[in-house]
Amino acid sequence: MHLARFPRVRLFPTPTPLEKLTNLTRHLGGPEIWIKRDDCTVVATGGNKVRKLEFLVGEALAQGADHLVTQGAVQSNHVRQTAAVAAKFGLKCTALLEHRIDTNDRDYLASGNVLLDRLFDATLEYRPGGTDMQAAIEAKADELRVAGAKPYVIPGGGSNRVGALGYVGCAQELMQQADEMGLKIDLVVHATGSAGTQAGLVVGLEGVNSGVRVLGIGVRAPKDRQEANVHKLAEATAEYCGLRGGIARSAVEANCNYVGDGYGIPTPGMAEAVTMLARLEGVLLDPVYSGKGMAGLIDLIRKGEIGKDQTVVFLHTGGAVGLYGYQGYFDTQLAG
Ligand SMILES: *Cc1c(COP(=O)(O)O)cnc(C)c1O
Repeated sequence: MHLARFPRVRLFPTPTPLEKLTNLTRHLGGPEIWIKRDDCTVVATGGNKVRKLEFLVGEALAQGADHLVTQGAVQSNHVRQTAAVAAKFGLKCTALLEHRIDTNDRDYLASGNVLLDRLFDATLEYRPGGTDMQAAIEAKADELRVAGAKPYVIPGGGSNRVGALGYVGCAQELMQQADEMGLKIDLVVHATGSAGTQAGLVVGLEGVNSGVRVLGIGVRAPKDRQEANVHKLAEATAEYCGLRGGIARSAVEANCNYVGDGYGIPTPGMAEAVTMLARLEGVLLDPVYSGKGMAGLIDLIRKGEIGKDQTVVFLHTGGAVGLYGYQGYFDTQLAG
């Protein structure tokens, strides 16, 4: 796969660090745990959407767009990263925020990512929970077109075949790092939501026949739906980058046992994972994605479902800014 075929803007220096989590490895008694620091993608405190935005904004600029339109939950990391990149390229940004969680909490509604969206001067509009958000951004783009703008629509999470190219690139980058370090990787674990990260990783790792297994820890949908979403996008991405033969359904694996009561709703496992990584490694996870992803990894290790002889890479997808949207929850946890 030759990513230079696609329009792209460069947003951060590569590779992102690949580091051993020595204290966590010791604490859990193996397997060897490494972390790929995609929370260090520079723009607006970083995160996985920056890799996708390199290709999405590359295409937007190639099409002469002057306005990015996207959507997410109120505390969307994707919206924050999109708003920042729009500012950098002199594009306008309109984001529709879905009240996906039923809450009046002021920190959730105004701090964390929302504060940064406003600093980046995104135009924010709110929609009730359960809205068809893809249809809503298409309608918003039509409205902007009628008013004379040239909008470029970015789906939720930046997850289409263009955005997923960012994680095809991440897979290539990770394999090169591992080869240079002489590190044999068995498994990559990460939080999976809108599916673009996992789809891109699977395509990139299958495309070089790496033999590395990818496990997505779900944060919203049940397993069947999550795996179907990832597989569909992986097939589309593989075709788009010219990988022949398709993607085996068996290459797409999600574990959705760590969602808890729903998207964005804290779980005890998440709180433990966030606290553990902060105290053992000085690493900040987030309450909605990477905290639940790490909670899954920790639990699967404790249950022996990930063997002690394995070498695991946890892909840190960012999101720590979201901690400020959950101030009250963590106040209670830390007092207890
Ligand atoms: C969006 C996001 C994810 C999930 O990535 P998808 O490509 O949407 O599956 C994981 N972690 C964080 C912090 C995110 O913001």
